[in-house]
Parts: sequence; C-alpha cells; structure tokens
Amino acid sequence: MNYYDILIIGSGPIGLACGIEAQRAGLSYVIIEKGCLVNSLYNYPANMTFFSTSERLEIGGVPFMSVNNKPTRPEALEYYRRVTVKFALNLRLFEEVLEVSRLADGFSVTTSKTSYTAGKVIIATGFYDIPNRMNIPGEDLPKVTHYYRDPHYYAMQQVLVVGANNSSVDAALETYRKGASVTMVIRGEEIGKRVKYWVRPDIVNRIAEGSIKAYFQSSLTAIGPHEAEILTPNGPITIPNDFVLAMTGYQPDFKLLRKFGLSLSDDEKLCPFHDPDTMETSEPGIYLAGVVCGGMDTHSWFIENSREHAGKILKDITSNLFRK
Ligand SMILES: Cc1cc2nc3c(=O)[nH]c(=O)nc-3n(C[C@H](O)[C@H](O)[C@H](O)COP(=O)(O)OP(=O)(O)OC[C@H]3O[C@@H](n4cnc5c(N)ncnc54)[C@H](O)[C@@H]3O)c2cc1C
Repeated sequence: MNYYDILIIGSGPIGLACGIEAQRAGLSYVIIEKGCLVNSLYNYPANMTFFSTSERLEIGGVPFMSVNNKPTRPEALEYYRRVTVKFALNLRLFEEVLEVSRLADGFSVTTSKTSYTAGKVIIATGFYDIPNRMNIPGEDLPKVTHYYRDPHYYAMQQVLVVGANNSSVDAALETYRKGASVTMVIRGEEIGKRVKYWVRPDIVNRIAEGSIKAYFQSSLTAIGPHEAEILTPNGPITIPNDFVLAMTGYQPDFKLLRKFGLSLSDDEKLCPFHDPDTMETSEPGIYLAGVVCGGMDTHSWFIENSREHAGKILKDITSNLFRK
C-alpha cells in the first residue's frame, strides 16, 4: 500500500531536510524526485563555488566540511549524498510528480511511475527548472543556452553573456580564461551588487582593461546563426557570435503550483500564499518548503534561510496530530 503520512516533492537540500525531520518525528514519508539526487545542484555550473559558507548549508545537524570556507558544487553533491545515506532517507528518484488531488482524508498523488496516498504534501520543488525567457528571435537556436556548465566547450569561440549577476559573471570570467572572446550585454549601468564580493573586482577590472567587452544599459534584441543584435545607448549594433549564454534567471513552475490548487499573489512576484509560521499554503495540508516560496523573487530565499522551513512544517504537522 503506497500510503505515507507525508509526501515530499523534490530532493533538493530542503526536501531532504523535510525528510530528516519527518523521520525524527516518527512519521512515514517518501521524497519523490524527478531527476537525480539534489538535481538542481547537479545541474549547476561544474566549477561553481557557493556564496554561503559550508556550515550555513548544513541540514539535519550534520557537519559540512569543505576544503575552503565556501564549498564547491562537487563538495555539496558529496555532502548531501552522504547525509541521504546516513539517514537512509526514503527516496524515489527519476519519478516526476504530475498531480496532487484532495481526498476525504489526505491526498492522492500521481507520478510518472505510480500513485500514492498521503496525509500531507510538502512542495519543495525549487526554481531551477524553468529559465526566464528573453522572448527574442533566435532564442531557441541550439547555440543559445540558459544553463552554463563548463568553460572548455567555448574555447576560441565568440561568446555573448547576458546578465550581470553571479551566474553571468562566473560564466564570463571562466570562458574568458579558457580563451573565448567574451561580450557581456547588461541591462543596468554596472555589474550587479549581489555578485560575490571576492569575484566582483575581477570582472570590473577585466571590463575596465577591455579583456571582456561589456555593453551597459543595453539589451540583446535578436540572435542569428552567426551574429547577435544588441540595442545599445548609441543605437543598434550587430556583432559576430558563436554562442549565447543567457543567464537571465529562473522561476518556479507556476503551472504546476496552480495545478496543485495553490493561490499566488496578484503582483508580479506571483508568491505562492503560505503562512510564514507553519508554511501551510492556501490548501490545508499542503506545505511549501525552500526557495519555491519566493515566487518570482528568487533573491530572498536560499538554502541558508529556508532550511528552517523543515522544522516549522513538522512542528505544525505533529502538533495537529496531537490535537486530533
Ligand atoms: C547557481 C546557484 C547558486 C546558488 N548558491 C547558493 C548559495 O551559495 N547559498 C544558498 O543558500 N543558496 C544558493 N542558491 C539558492 C538556493 O539555495 C538553491 O536554489 C537551492 O537548490 C534551493 O534548494 P531547494 O531544496 O529549495 O530547491 P532545489 O534544490 O531546486 O530542489 C528542488 C527539487 O525538486 C525537483 N522537482 C521539481 N519539480 C518536481 C516534480 N514535479 N516532481 C518531482 N521532483 C520535482 C527538482 O528536480 C529539484 O531536485 C543558489 C542557486 C543557484 C541557481
């Protein structure tokens, strides 16, 4: 019988933290993940370093040791895998949750492989699956990506990087250092203020010395097979181009959240409604955990400050059990 007290959608750091708390509370639970373990982190740029220090990424009280104080992606993958093994978390990988519907007492959950019933559902689906599109001609050409992985591929190529925040800056510096000719297209007047403090001077200096070309207050307007069109303050220009790294950010899967019956805020943030004390949504018995909570505002929630959601949710669920 596929019944669990709690069904958790997503095996990111916060979904795993929820599994650990459910286990500690003595409740039955399952974590359903559409990709591999910590799928979003697995798909981050290969050489990425977190801006958080390792102890701020810890879950379940398990110490996270890293060589330097800011861990790398491979260290984080290893950490979360070891935590999963330590707690023997009940996981189903490569299984996507498609539907959640309410029953008289709990929920029916349909996945790409089977179906479950659950007393409560926790949505910890993050925001890394859907990139913010530029909606310009040529965006779907194979030379355009919203997911930068590794610099070697771009050696000796003309690379255009869109954006001025951490992901764009990392991609620009790494590809430049592997011999790409890099142009950045930046909407604002300067490199983003949120860029890691130890990286920002590097990009500012590379732009100042002309090693990396940057067009500020500019936007990419069209992409062709061998060129890119940019609207600059001095008028439109066309530059030769082999690859576009469109680091324009990501957004939660709002279609899925609506399908699960959740209410979203009316403003541009599309914040899924939840009680910040309990993390319960507009649908009683369905909880939100992790960075999905912020809607389009993907710069307020991180692992650092959303790992506490697991404790809040389990406190609410267990206190309701006692009240019954
Ligand atoms: C490049 C980058 C660097 C970052 N660096 C930091 C940092 O240094 N410090 C920090 O605190 N935060 C950082 N963040 C922000 C944040 O911590 C991460 O987004 C983190 O992964 C959020 O954890 P999460 O568990 O909420 O979501 P995620 O890790 O995104 O996990 C969500 C999971 O849900 C799965 N999923 C989605 N839909 C379904 C479905 N329908 N069925 C089944 N599974 C599903 C996904 O495959 C994914 O594995 C960074 C984010 C990015 C993009």
